[in-house]
Amino acid sequence: MTERFSGSFTQQEPIPEEAIEAAVAVLRHGRLHRYNLAPGELGETALLEQEFAAQVGAKYCLAVASGGYALATALRAVEVKPGDPVLTNAFTLAPVPGSIASVGAKPIFVGVTESLTIDLEDLAAKAGRAKVLLLSHMRGHLCDMDRLMEICDAAGITVVEDCAHTMGAAWNGVPSGRQGAIGCYSCQTYKHVNSGEGGLLVTDDEDLAAKAVMLSGSYMLYERHLAAPPPEVFERIKYDTPNISGRMDNLRAAILRPQLKTLDAQVERWNERYRVIEEGLRGTPGLTVIERPAAETYVGSSVQFLLLDWSEERVAEVIRRCAERGVELKWFGGAEPVGFTSRYDSWRYAESEPMPESDRILAGIIDMRVPLTFSLEDCRLIARIIRAEVGAVHQS
Ligand SMILES: *Cc1c(COP(=O)(O)O)cnc(C)c1O
Repeated sequence: MTERFSGSFTQQEPIPEEAIEAAVAVLRHGRLHRYNLAPGELGETALLEQEFAAQVGAKYCLAVASGGYALATALRAVEVKPGDPVLTNAFTLAPVPGSIASVGAKPIFVGVTESLTIDLEDLAAKAGRAKVLLLSHMRGHLCDMDRLMEICDAAGITVVEDCAHTMGAAWNGVPSGRQGAIGCYSCQTYKHVNSGEGGLLVTDDEDLAAKAVMLSGSYMLYERHLAAPPPEVFERIKYDTPNISGRMDNLRAAILRPQLKTLDAQVERWNERYRVIEEGLRGTPGLTVIERPAAETYVGSSVQFLLLDWSEERVAEVIRRCAERGVELKWFGGAEPVGFTSRYDSWRYAESEPMPESDRILAGIIDMRVPLTFSLEDCRLIARIIRAEVGAVHQS
């Protein structure tokens, strides 16, 4: 009998009861706008910022409307101007080059290694060409962050971290998002906490924090923040920083606060599932498992593997056969961007240079989401199906 999987790769867990109650309380009082506060009230959004700052050990935190908005705000805060070059990953998702395009700047793509992290040699080679690196920890893979910061510090490059897939992860114990000047996170449904849409931005730099608050649309009400610098810092920048509204509201913040409290436990549950799938795939002929470095604390909310040097037809055949058995794989090598996949050369608004070594890797990257609604038994079944279908195509 052929085994099939019938679960949904896009079904996340429900919002926890505590979060639902907090949301209903906000709806009952009606003060959804973050600066709409009753006397003495601190507000869900300001409290969320204070709590997330403490959680990652940052001085300042700003909650915003989306992860992509957080990235664009970070680029504006570090003074990226129209026409400026910005280094970024060739292997990432559309909101990353999109945030660069949103400020009129131009991405310079840096290659990807077989570990699915940014190619540090390519970065070193291109370091002289830009003053900012928008570093995407794509699919949760952290590069050697110590080496990366050495390269960037030596070249005078400011690092903005895209932690959409690394909320809860760490490098050598340092929370992801805390090595660069600014760390940006997404709270969108498919990330590690779920408010539908939402983003968080953290930094230790008071000027960057004040600028980000002003940019997000603070209507000079920045004194109502609990994780922002003191008013004198705002005095320095408030006349020169435009309002580009993208605030978070109290409803989303209310939903997020209880989820952040259980993030570590959720990370553990993701990693149990990840390890089951990884074990099930290991040793499959023709398939390369991505080994995780000892310094990396990861969040296994998705799994990647490589079908390196396979022909397009054979990769497509694996995807098709797995889909027939209910296993939804995504392929970053496909010529056309589909759903959430895309390649650096699919962003035609941004010029790119040929990157044959990265193309070879991108052509073999297979990606799969692991929602927490999957049981460990589901994960074993999924791994058996992939193993069997990769094996069948590999032998044929
Ligand atoms: C989701 C995501 C973002 C931010 O996306 P939003 O949908 O704007 O919250 C940024 N980078 C990557 C790699 C992502 O997957």
